[in-house]
Amino acid sequence: MNAAELIERKKRGEELAPDELGAFVSGYVAGDVPDYQAAAFLMAVWFRGLTAAETYALTDAMVRSGETVDLAKRLGRRVVDKHSTGGVGDKVTIAVGPVVAACGVPFGKVSGRGLGHTGGTLDKLESIPGFRVELTTDELVEQTRAIGIAVAGQSANLVPADKKLYALRDVTATVDEVSLIAASIMSKKIAAGASALVLDVKVGEGAFMRTVEEARRLAEEMKALGERAGMEVVCVLTEMKQPLGRAVGNAVEVREAVETVSGGGPADFRELVVDAAGQLLALSDLGVDEAEGRARAEAALADGSARATYERWIRAQGGDPSPAALPVAPVVREVAAPEAGFVRELRAREVAVVAMELGAGRLRAGDPIDHAVGVVCLRKRGERVAAGEPLAEVHARDDGAASTAAVALLEAYELGAEPPDPRPLVLETIR
Ligand code: URA
Repeated sequence: MNAAELIERKKRGEELAPDELGAFVSGYVAGDVPDYQAAAFLMAVWFRGLTAAETYALTDAMVRSGETVDLAKRLGRRVVDKHSTGGVGDKVTIAVGPVVAACGVPFGKVSGRGLGHTGGTLDKLESIPGFRVELTTDELVEQTRAIGIAVAGQSANLVPADKKLYALRDVTATVDEVSLIAASIMSKKIAAGASALVLDVKVGEGAFMRTVEEARRLAEEMKALGERAGMEVVCVLTEMKQPLGRAVGNAVEVREAVETVSGGGPADFRELVVDAAGQLLALSDLGVDEAEGRARAEAALADGSARATYERWIRAQGGDPSPAALPVAPVVREVAAPEAGFVRELRAREVAVVAMELGAGRLRAGDPIDHAVGVVCLRKRGERVAAGEPLAEVHARDDGAASTAAVALLEAYELGAEPPDPRPLVLETIR
């Protein structure tokens, strides 16, 4: 395989054969194809796209780059999984996993790190002292069996091709391409082997898909890949114009997820957790419909079982589940409203950039991140604020970073005299 020639042909819009894509992916994982050629290849794909056959071949090559688990077969029952296409303040997995497991349904999955301006479940979980995201395939199976929930990262064993390509896309502006996202997500899902999936396809300025039409295309590509692998797939298109919940960062988001599994938490975040849990329970072997699934999810949030399951899960992966153990930023600065009014818009992408610049995300592959920093949006779209009242909190490493972030965060807010029209959070469900 001649990597330069392959890049050249993709650059000119030619369709590549499955064995060529397979050789490129295995060459990259083995270190024979260097990062600079893989980066050029990704950019060619970003401009030219992939055909359905190429997307399937890429996904298949990524699955075959490591071991596969077949969770459902090894547990001898249906296992469910959920994945998001990437949002701001999106900590749904950290709350929905324990809810579903508390309802008696095994939830096992492979997650990712921060990507582009969006946060990643693995980075958020690593803000918990001691938490280990690298699980062997046997650990993933045994923990899902014993505790009902396990969340692993891509590793040298599990989808190593996605681990490397994901980190490279993150820092080469090649994230927001439908086929690359579909292959990245579905390679992880197929390698882990759940029976049924709920895919949360984020739509809006804070997501990689800006329009409902683009989000539908992504949903359909992922659904086709999942169904070809024998999985039942439900895609839920959800709004990502403003951050989900109030917290954006790593430890601040885990704290909010813990509040939510304890029965509190922000209303929009809780709504999405209950919605996803309802769908997942309806896809499980409990024999319940979505309404009953939602009712059981609500009960698990109210009766303490979701919180207890969260604690067992975090301990099983070596972490300290107490919110008091999470790192705290040295400087917490309030951002005051310059005038009274209603929040008419809170632009998710701008909030995400503020959090990244505070240190919550990466600018180069392998950069360390600061788990303590981030933003808490005390007021969100539709909420009223008096002049001088806090709109948001900046959690920063030092005063200088806090001042810069406070100015930028104010720009993410649009205030007005009238409340905006309400917007639905769940836009569409594709079964
Ligand atoms: N989540 C993933 O796992 N991969 C992507 O490409 C985007 C979101």
